[in-house]
Amino acid sequence: MSVYLDFNSSAPIDERVLEYMIGVYRNSYGNADSRTHDFGDSARRIVEDARGRVSSILGAGKDEVFFTSGATESNNIVLQGLKSYALESGKKHIITSAIEHKSVLETAKVMQLDGFEVDFVKPGLNGQVSAEEIISLVRDDTLLVSIMHVNNETGVIQPVKEIGQSLADLNTFFHIDATQSFGKLVDELRDTKYDMLSMSAHKIGGPQGVGALVLRKKQYKRPPVKGIMFGGQQEHGIRPGTIPVPLVAGLGKACQIAEEEYHDNQEKCEKIKCRILDILDESGIDYEINGDQTCSVPGTLNVCFNGVSSEALMLASRQYCGVSNGSACNSSSYSPSFVLTAMGIPIEKIENSIRISWGSSSDPNEVADAFENLVQVAKKLAF
Ligand code: PMP
Repeated sequence: MSVYLDFNSSAPIDERVLEYMIGVYRNSYGNADSRTHDFGDSARRIVEDARGRVSSILGAGKDEVFFTSGATESNNIVLQGLKSYALESGKKHIITSAIEHKSVLETAKVMQLDGFEVDFVKPGLNGQVSAEEIISLVRDDTLLVSIMHVNNETGVIQPVKEIGQSLADLNTFFHIDATQSFGKLVDELRDTKYDMLSMSAHKIGGPQGVGALVLRKKQYKRPPVKGIMFGGQQEHGIRPGTIPVPLVAGLGKACQIAEEEYHDNQEKCEKIKCRILDILDESGIDYEINGDQTCSVPGTLNVCFNGVSSEALMLASRQYCGVSNGSACNSSSYSPSFVLTAMGIPIEKIENSIRISWGSSSDPNEVADAFENLVQVAKKLAF
């Protein structure tokens, strides 16, 4: 059976989360905003319990957490939701990086058409953007700095702590896309200053289609982000529409589990990475790792097998494992990874690079066997 090694695209749901969600689907079908009966109250309690779990893992306030359909929506709300404040204040400059998720990049590009000025900062060859460079670009009219915590393709950790520290006393909002770090780099996020944060439940063993936007308060006031859809007043109008109670419940349960287990989970992932690196070293194959391993998460590896087309490798090793060569959002048509391109990696090496990602639920022996097989296939394909 093929081993799943694409956790950064979507991690399998945790059985405990699924069990909990099934109970909610069966028993708590009320609308959390119905105030006229116990069914609504029961659904509301489940939603507020989940809100507490999200806020607890971040060390944020419960009233700072807003449920959305996931990080794409959260990122869109952050950028587009600041538009009216930008017009009032005359602050129309945004700083982001060239390796953000498309939900930030594409939204920022559309905002350029509306007169916003956007700096897309490139990372170094190590996959990390420079905090100093970002801070040096901040001006009086800088509305927002939006930087991801961990890159989804390379696993490289970005210097959000330094950026947050430098921006803390400035009149510029700081948004972190924490989709790949939430529930994993728990201590780091608790220790970082930011105004807004995005996450998706399905990266941490929760269900697909739900996530959160966190709006941190400063002097009792949250950032002036407005909802970008119109309808009901759910989630204070930040995200109108019926709250999907079972999905939100699943998100809360995944947070609870992550909060209890993140230390062990990181260790398990680290051990798997060591085994994969050992296999690579012992195989004698010509390879390089994309992204600086001294500042990377333990569950991701972006490997270039010199002389081996990633498309051919993925096809030929499909029976052993499911890996990728870029983020799922860009995979309908092949084009070289924009993340690796922005890092300055030559095109022929990008075409030879694959991303493997795993999680705490991965079986280390299964992963090692699958990876051994993948390397053997790569050896045969090498020219
Ligand atoms: N940001 C990052 C860094 C991601 O990795 C992803 C998912 N690949 C997203 C945002 C979007 O998440 P979703 O598709 O769940 O909205």
